[in-house]
Amino acid sequence: MKKILLYLFLFILICFILPALLTKRRNIQESKETTILEETKLENDLTNQNNLEENTNSNNSQNNDIQEYKYKNYGTIRLLHEKTGEIEEIPIDEYLYGVVSAEMPATFEKEALKAQAIVARTYTIYKIKNKKHENADICDSSNCCQAWISKENRFERWEENLREANWKKIQEAVDETKGKIITYENEPINAFFHSNSGGTTEIPVNVWGGSGYPYLQIVETAGESEYSQYSSEVELSNEELLKKLKEKYNDINIDFENSEDIKIIELTESGRVKTVKFGNQNLSGVEVRTIFGLKSTNFTILNKNGSIKFSVKGYGHGVGMSQTGADNMAKQGNSAEEIIKHFYKDIEIKDINSL
Ligand SMILES: [Zn+2]
Repeated sequence: MKKILLYLFLFILICFILPALLTKRRNIQESKETTILEETKLENDLTNQNNLEENTNSNNSQNNDIQEYKYKNYGTIRLLHEKTGEIEEIPIDEYLYGVVSAEMPATFEKEALKAQAIVARTYTIYKIKNKKHENADICDSSNCCQAWISKENRFERWEENLREANWKKIQEAVDETKGKIITYENEPINAFFHSNSGGTTEIPVNVWGGSGYPYLQIVETAGESEYSQYSSEVELSNEELLKKLKEKYNDINIDFENSEDIKIIELTESGRVKTVKFGNQNLSGVEVRTIFGLKSTNFTILNKNGSIKFSVKGYGHGVGMSQTGADNMAKQGNSAEEIIKHFYKDIEIKDINSL
């Protein structure tokens, strides 16, 4: 009888109590696992949140860096207003808002504007270190140093509904590159730039003579023909042409009937005009550009019956960064740094305070 009771107890134990205990134990384990999972998730969430906060903080500190960036030197520049002769002291980046907005259309891509800001800052520092004006660091003439326009004058030339957005875009391009300059062997480069290269940039020796500037090489850029600055024409009657040439070459003599008397006789390495024959005189391409107000030295000459037509490619001297080339590169997804490294060779982009 006792045995039967014992078996019965064991039977009940095996059938009901043990499974119930095991299930409970599993539940505990499961719930523990769930907690671990939840904790892990929570940890991940917290980590993500921390990362987000860190990112936000680093963004904030980046923004603060922009606002608080302190130039060890060159923080303020003396700008000579060419027309009035007045010299204005102005914080460098505030000056650069006026340069970038004068030198490059605000409609250009942000990365192109940033490249322009770095180039203009570099050019400014170069001018400060290689003095051109007696009591000023730089002037506001594009023929002498680099163009600059006041915010007030700039606004007058923009449509009213675009003014604030354009200005903000330019300010950002300058502020996001604060302190950045282009260096070669740890010195700021002479960062020449121009409007449109016509597809190929030029070396400085073919424009100004001399030597140096190993970072200024001939490079090709795509997409420049899409811009209005790419092609232009100048046509003069034979008499007008002769009159203009005589202002400089009094004894010039041209036989307009002879097709050999006006012709391009030499090109530069970049394919621009190096020498042109006008009757008994040979002129450099640069001279011809100046005399006839051509947009570049990349031209062909057509001797028509009674007139001479210059068909011109590109706009500017062609040395250094092409602005339309930069814009096209930005459109293809290139960064300001990539644009700069395309147009200037063996250079570095550095924080000016690190020099
Ligand atoms: Zn100047």
